[in-house]
Amino acid sequence: MFNLSIPLMQQGVVMKGVSRTPGSSRTGKRRSYGRLRLVTLLLAFSLIIAAPILNFRYHIDFIQGWYQSVSIGNLWFVSPLEGLETILTSKGIYGPLLVGMLLPVVLASLLGRVFCSWICPISLLSELLERVIRLVRRRRYRAAGNPLPRQILWFVLVGELLLAMILGAPIFVFLSPPGLVGREIMLLVMFGTLALEGIVVILVLIMHLVSKRFFCRYLCPLGALLALLGQRRQLKVEVDHEECVQCGRCKLACPMGLDPARQEGGSAYCWNCGDCLDSCQVDALHFSWGQK
Ligand code: SF4
Ligand code: SF4
Repeated sequence: MFNLSIPLMQQGVVMKGVSRTPGSSRTGKRRSYGRLRLVTLLLAFSLIIAAPILNFRYHIDFIQGWYQSVSIGNLWFVSPLEGLETILTSKGIYGPLLVGMLLPVVLASLLGRVFCSWICPISLLSELLERVIRLVRRRRYRAAGNPLPRQILWFVLVGELLLAMILGAPIFVFLSPPGLVGREIMLLVMFGTLALEGIVVILVLIMHLVSKRFFCRYLCPLGALLALLGQRRQLKVEVDHEECVQCGRCKLACPMGLDPARQEGGSAYCWNCGDCLDSCQVDALHFSWGQK
């Protein structure tokens, strides 16, 4: 066990007996889920930019669609929330829609909300914004605690589905922020213009400036559905209490305002981003597979 000066550690100043650069671990290996996630987010974003260019400029249809519904060759992915909304509002079940929803549902059941942290363009734009802020202010952009109860997320999901049924219109199909990013890219490529609804994306990013990942934490019904599906997921963050020195770094690093040192990495709210693992300098956190 390391002897650490905890109050100073919480300010990120001193680690008595340990001198490491941020992101490096006790074993000397540099962990970087953050960098890996950024690469994945950029790859997903590139795919969504490439699709309309290939379709409309070169008439290559191998990849079509965007984040809500995308096909790669014969593989078709449909966002589970948009699929569910379509079923509820049309009051009909369309077989191919269920097939498209299958893989995202299985992935969320096994890995949890990883679409949000590893693929969603809102995550990418938020991360880029954070990096710019870090450059300008020359300090890390920290999570702002939990201004609201986390359970709001479940009410948002139920409310959104009820509203869609009352109005008879799949609201999230039209106004989903990740979907809007894809649609704006397509409009830009096809017509060289942007649609007014894109303002929703700007609002989401402004919320993020006020409180880190505010929309993702409290207001995203898709995130809520994926979290619900992943409640009993196989991939979870676990803490080794023997190693943990209660420095609080992981709590500061968590974009979802969780405290992984108190097992909250196993909760439905964790989206398995790995930021807490990067931040822990004594290797007390790890991903684990399977129900314990
Ligand atoms: S607990 Fe860790 S993996 Fe889960 S959301 Fe927070 S930082 Fe990401
Ligand atoms: S698990 Fe969190 S609190 Fe414990 S040592 Fe690692 S960063 Fe610090």
